[in-house]
Amino acid sequence: MPDAADWTTGKDALNYQACRACKHIFYIRRAFCPQCGAGEPETKTASGRGVVYAETLVHRAPVPEAREHVPYKIVLVDIEEGARVMAHGTLDLKIGDRVVAGYRPFLGGLVPLFGKI
Ligand SMILES: [Zn+2]
Repeated sequence: MPDAADWTTGKDALNYQACRACKHIFYIRRAFCPQCGAGEPETKTASGRGVVYAETLVHRAPVPEAREHVPYKIVLVDIEEGARVMAHGTLDLKIGDRVVAGYRPFLGGLVPLFGKI
């Protein structure tokens, strides 16, 4: 992998992977393609733009440290490169909204926060 740094390591970027064999695009980092099994997928940085596929509002904190953040929105976003991403979203987001990724601190790390374009 070239530069794998993204929000999971504290950098304000969103990465995805592309299979060199079958061209399948996927988001959850793996050492092989979930479609065809080929190894060494290419890691790329997404534009951060996409469309909301689903959204839900979290009212009950999953851990005590998250209580200060509730309610917060979790969204599934289809990024323009072709992968579906789970992330945080601004409270006003609805299905079909065009969005772009920002980032915010959450529970000691950095998480993607999508907002309307
Ligand atoms: Zn593949």
